[in-house]
Amino acid sequence: MSLNSIDRILAIAFGQSRAQQQPFQIALQYWSQVVGSAVVPHTQLLSIQKNVLWVATSSAAWAQTLTMERSRILTKLNVYLPNPLTDIRFSTAQWQRPETIAKEREVSDNFFGGAHPSTLAPTSSSQAKPTKSNDPQTAFSQWVKTTQQKNHNLPLCPQCQAPTPPGELQRWRVCCMCAVKEF
Ligand SMILES: [Zn+2]
Repeated sequence: MSLNSIDRILAIAFGQSRAQQQPFQIALQYWSQVVGSAVVPHTQLLSIQKNVLWVATSSAAWAQTLTMERSRILTKLNVYLPNPLTDIRFSTAQWQRPETIAKEREVSDNFFGGAHPSTLAPTSSSQAKPTKSNDPQTAFSQWVKTTQQKNHNLPLCPQCQAPTPPGELQRWRVCCMCAVKEF
């Protein structure tokens, strides 16, 4: 199977107009859907270079966690892209929000130092801290859980047994991942 036919399948599947969109715009558009809303504030998409997506992260902890999850993210993101990405690089190097960096550093210190955020001494900070997404691992497992709950009632792909939107089964009789593999 040639790359051309994959392109054609994806163009048909997701609409001709999307094939004409820039891959980076597509990545931006679907990023929150792919990584989950708890992760989005800790990431900034920078560019796509030679099919590699570069993403700035708010802390080293986030870069580490997302790097471990990158094949999962890549698979989900590539569903929407006319030319599949080969890799994603996460780094704190180009993070652009100085006012959040201080906050994040505090969070990652807590994360690595083992101190629970709620046991902070009252003098250390007057800011109210969101506790939900402080810990990258927690944020990710929350996301996986909601995704699984969301997918709970979906029919299963007959090939890989993954929960699959009925539209995909109607079109390909398998999930989109299996469809792409088959062609
Ligand atoms: Zn499948």
